[in-house]
Amino acid sequence: MTDIKKTLAQLVAIDSVSARSNAPIVEYLEQRCAALNMVTKRFAYLDEHGIEKINLIALANADFSGPPNVELALVGHTDTVPYDPNWAEATNLTERDGKLYGRGSCDTKGFIAAALTAVETIDRSQLRKPLALIFTADEEVGLLGAKELAQLKPINPRYSIVGEPTSLKPIRAGKGYSLAEVIVKGREAHSAYPALGASAIFRAARLITRLEAIADDLKQELHPAFDPPFTTLNIGLIRGGTAKNVLAGECRFTLEWRPIPTQPSSHVLNLVKTAIADEQGHDPDFEGECNASRADFGFETASDSPLISLMEEATGIPAGTVAFGTEAAQMTTLGSESVVIGPGDIRDAHRTGEFVPIDELERCSQVLQMAITRLCG
Ligand SMILES: [Zn+2]
Repeated sequence: MTDIKKTLAQLVAIDSVSARSNAPIVEYLEQRCAALNMVTKRFAYLDEHGIEKINLIALANADFSGPPNVELALVGHTDTVPYDPNWAEATNLTERDGKLYGRGSCDTKGFIAAALTAVETIDRSQLRKPLALIFTADEEVGLLGAKELAQLKPINPRYSIVGEPTSLKPIRAGKGYSLAEVIVKGREAHSAYPALGASAIFRAARLITRLEAIADDLKQELHPAFDPPFTTLNIGLIRGGTAKNVLAGECRFTLEWRPIPTQPSSHVLNLVKTAIADEQGHDPDFEGECNASRADFGFETASDSPLISLMEEATGIPAGTVAFGTEAAQMTTLGSESVVIGPGDIRDAHRTGEFVPIDELERCSQVLQMAITRLCG
């Protein structure tokens, strides 16, 4: 087995689904980084279930006497989505037809193996500028580890390369992700006498008609780099009422929107609040509230950034965008220009039979070697 395959096999063998503590995989990464003469530091926190989660930072040519300024950070998340216990290959990396199968092989342990191999392969005595490896926790459950780092600000990277399966296409911008729950109240009554109450479902329906019009208006603000090139809005879940012959006392629905990076998350939230206020204007009895629970912003790195040009040159693939959230947004908060790239296809992740193509895995390591040598040399 080549070194990169061996490393990936070792990473996949450590079960690191988000529900568990990632301490075992962090311990493994600490040892690997120490063997490369990098200094490491843990940034631990407790998740909502009281389980210890750790972000790990490893540095070359810098130390932790203050928040280090580093030229380049390679960022990979250590957690994976859960797997079917009947999938024998999940923690036992298996090679077949030029592909490596296992949970996390594609998302995102492949990138981590490529990053470790890249640092191992280059002539580290030639590096003049600081380099960091950042290993995060809880990416799959809401980018929580990266958000923790964005708040602590323990490092100032000038450029970051964030691992995610993109089939090695450099991604220079991503949409944000916002979530809210809308609660509309009514008054229960026997359905034979509707005048005695007010249906929360009829009220919610009127509000939803307004929200659909808002979704249509959002198409006016264009960001042509994206597909679709505007903020999208979805009502994915709705629940209300207790029986067919009772006026519904309450109706709740979830509202999700993916803002283009030039638009703050609060823009849609304000439109929704205005729509609720309008309904109240028509019907003084109307009662509705919108409770936002998530407002992850997007990110955008200019297409002429040296980082983007370098990644396009290294891969031969023009940079693009994605419509989902990544840790690049948090790295941008830390002050860096960011790009997302990695081996494997996101459509092959998050399912039984997840795999990474070996040639892409090896090419990713070469791309990272070139990035480190050019930016930190
Ligand atoms: Zn991922």
